[in-house]
Parts: sequence; C-alpha cells; structure tokens
Amino acid sequence: MKAIVVSQYGGPEELKLEEIPDLTPQSGQVVVKIHAAGVNPVETYRRAGTPPYNSGPLPYTPGSDGAGEISAVGPHVEGWNIGDRVYLYAPKGSGTYAEFCLCDQSEVFRLPDGISFEQGAALGVPYATAHRALFGKAGAKAGEFVFVHGATGGVGVAAIQLAQRAGLQVGGSAGSSEGEAFLESLGVKYTANHNAPDYLSDVLGMTCGRGCDIILEMLANVNLGRDPDVLAPFGRIVVIGNRGSVEVNPRDWMMRDATLFGMTLFNALPTDLKLIHADLGIGLGNGELQPLVGRQFSLQEAPQAHRAIMESGARGKIVLSRG
Ligand code: NAP
Repeated sequence: MKAIVVSQYGGPEELKLEEIPDLTPQSGQVVVKIHAAGVNPVETYRRAGTPPYNSGPLPYTPGSDGAGEISAVGPHVEGWNIGDRVYLYAPKGSGTYAEFCLCDQSEVFRLPDGISFEQGAALGVPYATAHRALFGKAGAKAGEFVFVHGATGGVGVAAIQLAQRAGLQVGGSAGSSEGEAFLESLGVKYTANHNAPDYLSDVLGMTCGRGCDIILEMLANVNLGRDPDVLAPFGRIVVIGNRGSVEVNPRDWMMRDATLFGMTLFNALPTDLKLIHADLGIGLGNGELQPLVGRQFSLQEAPQAHRAIMESGARGKIVLSRG
C-alpha cells in the first residue's frame, strides 16, 4: 500500500509517498481504508522535530485523524464489520496519511451516513479538542459568552458549532475581514480581526464591557498577556494552542478570580474520550454538527498541505482526500 513516510526530521519535503507493507489486523484490531485524512498543526511540529515532539520513532507515517471504511477485521472484534463507515482518532497501529490504517477497535467511531469522509477526517482532533476545552475544562454553560480567539481553523470552527449547540453566545476572531465574513456565515454574531490594532476593545464591546466568561485561546504566546483585559470576573481561559513564551501579569487573573487551564487532547482519559465521541455522535447524527472542510489535497500533496496549515487564512479543516 502507499503511505506518506517521514524518515528524518525536516521541512515539508520530508513527507515522501512510499510503498510500504500491507496491514494485517491482530486481535482486537481493524484495518480502515482511508478515504480522507485530517491535517493538524501538531503533525508539522512532529515532522520538523520541534521539541517536545522529537521523541517518537523514525521512520513513521503521520496522521491522527481520518475517515473511511473498515476493510479487514481481526479476531475478537465486536460490533464492527467490513464496509462500516467510520472515523478514527489517534491510531497506535499506524498513521492516517496512507491508503490504509491499522486501528484498535476502540479507536474507531461510527460515521453517520449524512457526514462525508472528508468531514469525518475533521473530527478526531479538532472536535474532541474543542469539546474537552469547552466542557471538560471551562465547564461552559448555556447563556455564557465564549470568545474563540482564532476561530477560523479546524478547532475554532468545531468550538463555534459545539458552543452554539450548547446555547452559548459566541464571538470569534479571524485574521482578515474575509475571515470575519466566513465566521458570520457560520452564524457568529460577534467577530473581531486579531490582526487589527485595538481589536480587543471590539471584543469587550461584544459583551457590553462585561468581558467574556470563557476564552478559547489558539495562540497563547501572542495573546495570553492581554486576554485578561477582556475576561469577565470568574472567567476561564483555556490554552489550546501555543508556539512560544509570553509575559503575563498574574495580578490580572487574581483580580478577576480567573482560572487558566492548559489543555492537551492527548492527555484525555479513555473514559473522557468515550463520552466526548458519544456526544459528537449524537450531534453528527441529528445534523447539529456539520464539520466544515476547507482546502483539500491528495495524499501525494501532503507537503503542500503542511505548508497550507501553517499559513494564515484558515477556513475550517484541511484534509488529504482520495477524491
Ligand atoms: P488551524 O486550522 O491551522 O487554524 C489556526 C487558527 O489560528 C486560525 O483560526 C488562525 O486564524 C488563528 N490565528 C492566527 N493568528 C492568530 C492570532 N494572532 N490570535 C489568535 N488566533 C490566531 O489550526 P487548528 O487545528 O485550529 O489548531 C489551532 C491551534 O491549536 C494550533 O496551534 C494547534 O497546534 C493547537 N491544537 C492544540 C490541541 C491541544 O490538544 N491542545 C489540539 C488541536 C490543536 P487566521 O488564519 O484567520 O488568521
């Protein structure tokens, strides 16, 4: 089968399409024929060997997110059959940037008929991350105001949909006026441009000066120092994305009785993931959640996809699709 293989850390050109041995499921495992694989920023950090993402084995096939059909079932697998439509999250057996992927049966989740494989590839990391940040960390409640600081990408769009579904008021930021228009098309009433000077006064205006109950932060190294300026008393900030260090004044949190959460999806307990995916399954099944696919690339275009995910101008999820 064909798969992307990284043999040494480096730039996007290290994502090489190669022929590797076919996969055989062992006890409790299934093989999924991948129709679409999700591309996440963390896969670029690992490919580049950026600490702390430089400890895994080489060579490897990247990819935690994907969707497709079960093509082989190992012994002692219950409830899954060849042909079942599934999406998957963090398979330990192999990566999703490939024609096929080896998964434990607990790593696959049913994909409702109305959801495309490309949409399914947007679920594992982005939706579960947004869900855990909003509900598992911030304890979001209906009526609260959440500001998604970096709302146009994979996690941001997922957070918007999950927050809207739960009855929160939603504001979000984009890096351009086109990005703000994109957010408006998703039903976001309150938008701001995180590249505009003084945009935080717009954010404060979204809540008539009261401040946000929750901020989901996609670029903490840029924003965390000033996030408290737009946080309500007893507000919560969840750091989801970060690419460096930042100076903060803890007094800003102290004066608001604020809570700062760090959040890494890979730390989620299996029991939490089970509940998260059960809830996502309900939302996908009844149409409340509609993953939004942005740019699509073929498997061999994985290097272009890695360049694209690190550029500004995100519009939902980037996927590698069989087409
Ligand atoms: P993505 O699809 O590439 O989107 C990146 C987002 O960041 C876009 O909405 C972009 O907006 C926004 N952004 C750019 N500059 C910003 C700024 N100055 N302030 C606020 N936002 C800004 O990435 P993603 O998949 O949504 O992931 C977002 C971040 O979360 C990444 O750093 C990723 O590594 C991290 N992440 C963490 C976890 C975890 O478990 N903690 C899980 C998934 C992702 P424009 O393009 O409109 O400028």
